[in-house]
Amino acid sequence: MQIGKKIKLKKKKLSKKELVKRLLKTPVKNLKFSGKKISFEFFGNKISNAIELKKEDHVAEWSRRHKKIFIDKNFSKKDLNKSFKALCVHEAVEKFLAEKMHFNVDKEAHLIATKKEKEFLEKMHGNWRSHELIVYWNWHRQGEH
Ligand SMILES: [Zn+2]
Repeated sequence: MQIGKKIKLKKKKLSKKELVKRLLKTPVKNLKFSGKKISFEFFGNKISNAIELKKEDHVAEWSRRHKKIFIDKNFSKKDLNKSFKALCVHEAVEKFLAEKMHFNVDKEAHLIATKKEKEFLEKMHGNWRSHELIVYWNWHRQGEH
């Protein structure tokens, strides 16, 4: 279709830097947690992933094969609910950006995912600083991003 083609071309013309800028500004919409699933809309895409709790050395991770994200089971505790959900947002956004938009996981994808994670936490009136301390201290200790 003509219009679709035009839009595609327009999108292609965006430089990577501009695209990252735009993604940073784009909010995650219709975020839902139901059962063991996270779903939302982002950048015109419907994203849905199963959430699996397990022993996770790197706090959280996503599957390259399945529509699935992994969260360390220590985050299932009730007092960590906001942190848990924020992590799910991060992983699901990162997975989408790496797989569908072909961004570098450790650079752009992680950067944008972190922004969406932070926005979610702010919306929930969570404390970013304490969330960061719980999550990222572990990460850095592992030598990961
Ligand atoms: Zn990340």
